[in-house]
Order: sequence, then structure tokens, then C-alpha cells
Amino acid sequence: MLKERVAIITGGTKGIGKAIADKLSSLRIKVVICARKKENTRHYFIKCDVSKIEEVKNLVNETIRKFGRIDILVNNAGIFPSNLLKDMTEEQWNNVISVNLNGVFNCTRLIIPYMIKAKYGKIINIASIAGTCLGFQGLTHYCTTKAGLSGFTKSAALELAEYKINVNAVAPGLISTPGVDNFMSKREQLEFSKIVPLKRNGKPEDIAELTAFLASDSSSYITGQTITVDGGYTIQ
Ligand code: NAP
Repeated sequence: MLKERVAIITGGTKGIGKAIADKLSSLRIKVVICARKKENTRHYFIKCDVSKIEEVKNLVNETIRKFGRIDILVNNAGIFPSNLLKDMTEEQWNNVISVNLNGVFNCTRLIIPYMIKAKYGKIINIASIAGTCLGFQGLTHYCTTKAGLSGFTKSAALELAEYKINVNAVAPGLISTPGVDNFMSKREQLEFSKIVPLKRNGKPEDIAELTAFLASDSSSYITGQTITVDGGYTIQ
């Protein structure tokens, strides 16, 4: 069943998105990835900034031309620049909103017509413990977007249930990725791992495993949920 499926993974060149692309591809799903820059990748790549509607239209049209359908959408692309609210500019705020929230809206809105027609779809939004479970200093804009994704997930799941489209979100804790390496020093990451009950930070593969389950027919009775994958960090 899964081998005929086609998936789009936004931000699939690095970190969590790359691990999800590798995992879905290992299940013989046809994988399309997008990002702003092409990086070494073995997956079908389409250049696309998810905050730019014309580029998202091209992503969707090119995927349909090449593969004829879109069954799975993983809204993974996201940015997490840090700044305190008192110092934050309107441009910094808008930049995070436009990628992390508007990007999810753009991709979802343009892809669901194909899923509705097929009466089948799996949409997985990569949220975060930041915003959905906890606040973090310096990440007010980011937390706003990730909490927003949780609401988006529930409402979209309700609207799309009649078309057999499942919409869920994954909320990772700290996952070692190139993005996190720009955000925290290795020493800070090590310190963080010590307060995680499972005594390690996450790997991108930890998120890919749950995403693959949510993209599969094994999860067909799960919808509207935001599922935390954080080694127990937020249960303390
Ligand atoms: P990462 O290592 O920085 O990778 C981000 C990916 O997204 C790259 O492929 C990047 O490629 C792409 N991207 C960024 N902006 C984009 C845009 N406007 N349009 C299209 N692609 C874009 O990040 P990550 O740590 O893997 O994070 C992935 C997702 O997980 C994000 O949504 C993040 O908020 C979420 N998350 C991460 C963690 C963590 O600890 N790592 C925790 C919770 C949630 P280009 O730069 O070339 O566009």
C-alpha cells in the first residue's frame, strides 16, 4: 500500500526533515523535498521558500506533473532565531510568522484539494514543545507559531475528517540538528541532555519514526493530536 504513496516534506534537506525524507523513502514512498537551498540529497528536490505563495504553487504543480498525486504532506520547514521580546523588531517577528505559520497554511491550502479529491491524506505538522507545552525566553515569536500549529492541527483535522484526511502534529524536544547547532553551543546542548529524564537529546530519527507512523495507515484513527517526543522533558 505505502509504496504507491507520494509525500512532500518541506525543509527536507537537513536535520529533522532529512531524517523524515530518508525514513519515508525507506518505506518506498516517493519523496519530494523542498528548501530554499539545494543541499546534497538523494531525494527529488524542488527549490521553494514556503513563505512565498508563488514558490509553493510551483512546488505543488511540479510534484503533480512528476508524480500525479500527493498523499502525505509533512510541514517541517521552520526557523528559530532568538531575540527578547523587548528588543524584537517587527521584521523579525513577521519573518518567523511567515515561515512557521504562513508556510504551513500555504502548503496545506494548496495541497488539500488533491487529498480531498482522492478522499485520502496524511498531514503532519512539526510543532515543538516550545509553545505547545512551555514558554522559552527569546522565543516568543517561535512559541507563538508552534502553539498556533497545535490549534491549526485540531481545526484542520475537524474540517478534513469527512475526506479521510488525518491531520496531526509532532512536538519535538531538543533534537540535535544543524539548526540547533546554530542556536545553542555543544556545551549548552550537553547541559540540556542532563535534565532530560532519558538522559539524552533527541536524534532526528526519533521524530522520523513517529512521523512515518502518522503517515501510515496504521494511524488511521488518530487525528487532531499534537504528540510530544522529548525524552520526558516536559513531564517533570
Ligand atoms: P534545521 O536543521 O535548521 O533544518 C531546517 C530545514 O528547513 C532546512 O532544510 C532548511 O533549508 C529548511 N527551511 C528553512 N526555512 C525554510 C523556508 N522558508 N522554506 C523552505 N524550507 C525552509 O532545523 P531542524 O532543527 O531540523 O527543525 C525542523 C523543524 O523542527 C522546524 O519546524 C523546527 O521548528 C522543528 N523543531 C526542531 C527542534 C529541534 O530541537 N531541532 C525542536 C522542536 C521543533 P534552507 O535553509 O535551505 O531553506
